[in-house]
Amino acid sequence: MNSLVKQSKLLNQKPVVVNNMNVSKPPQGEVTLLSYDETTTLFHEFGHAIHGLLSDVTYPRVSGTAVQRDFVEFPSQVNEMWILWPEVLDNYAIHYQTGERLPQAWVDKLHESATFNEGHATTSYLSAAVLDLAWHSLDGSQEITSVEEFEKNAIRDYGLHYSPVPTRYRSTYFSHIFAGGYSAGYYGYIWSEVLDADTVEWFKENGGLNRKNGDHFRKALMSRGGSVDSMQMFRNFRGRDAEIEPLLRRRGLLHND
Ligand SMILES: [Zn+2]
Repeated sequence: MNSLVKQSKLLNQKPVVVNNMNVSKPPQGEVTLLSYDETTTLFHEFGHAIHGLLSDVTYPRVSGTAVQRDFVEFPSQVNEMWILWPEVLDNYAIHYQTGERLPQAWVDKLHESATFNEGHATTSYLSAAVLDLAWHSLDGSQEITSVEEFEKNAIRDYGLHYSPVPTRYRSTYFSHIFAGGYSAGYYGYIWSEVLDADTVEWFKENGGLNRKNGDHFRKALMSRGGSVDSMQMFRNFRGRDAEIEPLLRRRGLLHND
């Protein structure tokens, strides 16, 4: 997603946003079809696009996706949730030759397989996120003599050290820590997902996809860009602070489910 013109009342500008996507080239003579992964990316980037398009703020500096770093993936991750939503599936998941809708049994399988290996995926991601935070929390007075020791301690401090599953990212090549622009912000993906999963719960509790719910989401959050503090926007939408249970449930990490 790229924003060509930022919405702003100050400059009387409407937003111009583009989504560009690279997809696999089909064999000669065949149509272009999207894989499930590509479809996920499409929905994700379209979520950023909607965030830009619904912007209704005065100043260009806080327009659309110009929000706090650990909040920017939240609207796009919310948009991913519609991929398997029944009414949305009816609209787009149609066999290109027969017109048949994606069979429900396949949809169920996709739901079931979503939690496969989540224990490992979540802990390996968290290890990387806390390592990123640990490096950027140094105040300059500590002298690090062993990178390996530093890593081990940082991860152990969070209870994530587990020798059968060593950390996947190491400081020496984990580019997000220093060179990738994250600089202590790598945790933002799962933090956005805490907000995202809790938002899905809200839609479910309130009757799903309908105009009223969409308007509330738009008014409280999607149109505000970075003009309101992120957590305040979330509270204005949800009516309370975010809770972690929806994320744990989605990832299959809650015992009693
Ligand atoms: Zn994104």
